[in-house]
Amino acid sequence: MKRIGAHVSIAGGIENAPLNAAAIGARAFALFTKNQRQWQAAPLSSAQVERFRANMEAHAFQPQHLLPHDGYLINLGNPDPDAWQKSLHAFIDEMRRCQQLGLPLLNFHPGSHLRLISEETCLDRIGEALNRALDATEGVTAVIENTAGQGSNLGYKLEHLAELIDRVEDQTRIGVCIDTCHAFTAGYDLRTPEGYQHFFAQFERIVGYRHLKGMHLNDSKPDLGSRVDRHESLGKGKLGLSPFRCIVNDPHLEEIPLILETIDETLWPEEIRLLYSLIENKEETPPAVTP
Ligand SMILES: [Zn+2]
Ligand SMILES: [Zn+2]
Repeated sequence: MKRIGAHVSIAGGIENAPLNAAAIGARAFALFTKNQRQWQAAPLSSAQVERFRANMEAHAFQPQHLLPHDGYLINLGNPDPDAWQKSLHAFIDEMRRCQQLGLPLLNFHPGSHLRLISEETCLDRIGEALNRALDATEGVTAVIENTAGQGSNLGYKLEHLAELIDRVEDQTRIGVCIDTCHAFTAGYDLRTPEGYQHFFAQFERIVGYRHLKGMHLNDSKPDLGSRVDRHESLGKGKLGLSPFRCIVNDPHLEEIPLILETIDETLWPEEIRLLYSLIENKEETPPAVTP
């Protein structure tokens, strides 16, 4: 079945995330495991982990339907050696937090070259960081997100994702997450069923479905190829509803987290219901939960 949800808040404690997700009728969710704008965070206590797990169970969420996201300060491609070390350290900490929570995925943005090094060198630095982080942890897959290519961010081409995967030694613990807004503003036209098919045909050839661990479902404020990252509520942006109808009816996307990061969170319950209502073969998916 399709696992649709949103990136929910951890305000008041990480144990609130499953409650916030249940309250909007989600069957999957994303979360930060710490404040996303700070380097340091207090370690998770075993009592917190316990409460988090109890709330997950109470609302029938399974670990593989969660897509934790790392903090915004981390840049695994940073050209500066000290800054790179700091990022690597923080990324390992993020992976350990996931491990502690029993969550098998960690979503991250590949990194930026800051116009100081070539794309190739930057990809090498990210690859090196990933190998070290995977070596230092267990049971967590690093999930690379495609980007809009804003500023000097890498990850705006499917080839970047493939080149990063190639650099990783443990192929069982590297995956990707496709963000619809980022793909569109990076230049992939998903506005029609044909465009959607064409994109995923390229995806299968360049990256491979076996690495697809989740998706971010966002409409886009900016236009095709603008390389600007601005999300919009579903059906209110330049993408329209067509790509989302394709997604919820795509058999390749069963049982992976499909996460809204749309700008108006008061619309999330409605957007989740809308997405479930777009499924054509209803037998495969029970009706949406009413929050
Ligand atoms: Zn995203
Ligand atoms: Zn974005």
